[in-house]
Amino acid sequence: MGGWRARSLPSIGAKFRAVVIVLATILLGICGLVVFEASLIRKDMRRASEERREADQARALQLDLEGFERVVGLRAEQRSDAASELGALDQLGHLDGALRSLAALAPPHDDPSESEHEADEARHRGLLVTLLHDTRAGISAGTGTPAQWRERAAEMLRHARDLHDEVLQAAHSANVDLDLRSGQLIRFVSVLAVVALFVLIGVCVYVSRGLVRPLRALADGTRRIGHGELAHPLPSTGGAEIVELSREIRAMADALAANRRDLEARVEQRTRELVRSARLADVGAVAAGLAHEINTPLASIVACADGLQRRLGQGRADPTQQREYLQIIGQEAERVREMTARLLEIARPATSELRAVDAAEAVRSATMLSRHRFAQRGVTLRAEPASVLPAVRSNAAELAQVLLNLLNNALDASPAGGVVTVGLQRSGSELLLDVDDQGPGVSPEVSDKIFDPFFTTKDPGHGTGLGLAIVQGILERQGGHIELIALRPGARFRVRLPIATD
Ligand code: ADP
Repeated sequence: MGGWRARSLPSIGAKFRAVVIVLATILLGICGLVVFEASLIRKDMRRASEERREADQARALQLDLEGFERVVGLRAEQRSDAASELGALDQLGHLDGALRSLAALAPPHDDPSESEHEADEARHRGLLVTLLHDTRAGISAGTGTPAQWRERAAEMLRHARDLHDEVLQAAHSANVDLDLRSGQLIRFVSVLAVVALFVLIGVCVYVSRGLVRPLRALADGTRRIGHGELAHPLPSTGGAEIVELSREIRAMADALAANRRDLEARVEQRTRELVRSARLADVGAVAAGLAHEINTPLASIVACADGLQRRLGQGRADPTQQREYLQIIGQEAERVREMTARLLEIARPATSELRAVDAAEAVRSATMLSRHRFAQRGVTLRAEPASVLPAVRSNAAELAQVLLNLLNNALDASPAGGVVTVGLQRSGSELLLDVDDQGPGVSPEVSDKIFDPFFTTKDPGHGTGLGLAIVQGILERQGGHIELIALRPGARFRVRLPIATD
C-alpha cells in the first residue's frame, strides 16, 4: 500500500521539470510579445523619421517653386532681352532645384509609410514631374508666354503645397501611432511585471508547501526519532523521494523500537533473576545465623521431651508438671515456627502486588532474623519504632529485603561494640525508616556511586554491589525513596515509604 502510494506520487524531479516548463513557456511568451511590440515601435519610428525627411524635401520643393513663380512674375514685367535671358536661366535653376527635391522625395524601396499616403504622394509627385519637365522644355525652347508660365507656376505650387500637406499629415499620423504604441508597450510591460510577481509568489508558495515544509518535517521527525521518540510521525507528502525516505526511516525506527522492546524484556528478565539471586543470598546468610537461633528452642524442646518421658516412665509425673513441660515444648516450637515462617516470607518469590503493610512488624521480623549475626559480631541491634504507626503501601517480602540489605550493610560497616539503630517515624504522608550505624561512613567520592549496580568496596566474595541498587529499584516501584544522610563517622540510610491510604 505504502509503496503504491509512493510510486503514484510525482517525484521532486518531475515537479521541478513541470515548474521549469511552465516558467519557460511563460517567459518565452512574454519575450515573444515584447519583441513583437518592439518591432512595431521600431517600424513606427522609422516611418516617423522618413515622413520628417519627406516633409523637409517637400518644403524645399515648395521654396524652389515659389522662387520660380517669383522669377516668372518679374520676367513678365521686364521687357529687355538681356533681362529676359537672365530670367530664363534663373527659372531653369529653380526648376532643376525643384526636380532634385522631387527626386529626393521619392520613397526608398522599403518605404515604411502607410499605403494610402503613399498613393496620394505618388499622384502629386507624378503630376509635378510631368509639369516640371514640360515647363522646363518650354522655357528652354523659348515657347510660351510669361503669363502662361505664371499660371503654370501657380498650378505646380498648388500641387507642391498639397504634397507638403500630405507629407506633414503622414508625419503627424506616424507620431500619433508611435505615441499610441509606446503607451501600449508601457501598459503591457507593467501588467506583465504584476503577473510575473504573482507567478513568482505562486512558485515560491508551491515550492515551500510541496518541498520545504515536508523536508523540514522529515528533518524534525528524524531528529526526534534520534532522541528516542520512535513513534513520531513522518511526512507522507512532498514528492516520491521524500515519502520513500520517510518510509525507510519509519522502517528503521520500527526496527529500533522492536529491538528496544526485546532488550527491555531481556533486561527485565535478567534483573528479576539478579534480584532473586540477591534475595536468596540474603536468605542464605540469614538462614545460617538462624540455624543457631533455632538450636536453643530445639534444645529446650528436646530437654523437656526427655524429662517428661523419664518422669512418665518412672510414673511420677503429676498433671501440673506434665502441663508445664508441654507448655514449654509448645512455646519453643512456636518460636521455631515463627522464625521459619519469617524466613519463608522473604524467601518466597516476590509478587509485585502492593498492599497495606505494617512497617513496624517488618522491622521486628528483620531484626529478629538478623539478631544472631549481629550478636556473633559483637554489634548491638536496636529497633526504636514510634508507638502507633499507620501501614505503608508496600510489599511485605520486598520490604523485608530492603531492611535486611540495609542491616547487612550497617553490620558490615560497624566495628565490634558498635550500635546499629533502626528508627521508624511518621512525616506527613510518609513513614521515615532510618538505619544508623557507627561505622566509618561513606566518603564523598564513593557516595555518588553506591546506588550504581555492581559498585562495591567490599572484598571479593563479600559484596556483589547489587544490594543498594535493588533496594532503590524496589522503592522506586513502590513510590518510595532511599537517600544517604552522611553522619561521618557513621552513616544513616533514610527510606521514605508512602502511607497506605485505604
Ligand atoms: P555490597 O554491599 O554488595 O557492596 P551495596 O549496593 O549494598 O553492595 O553497597 C554498595 C557500597 O555502598 C558498599 O560496598 C559500601 O562501600 C557502601 N555502603 C553501603 N552501606 C554502607 C554503610 N552503612 N556504611 C558505609 N558504606 C556503606
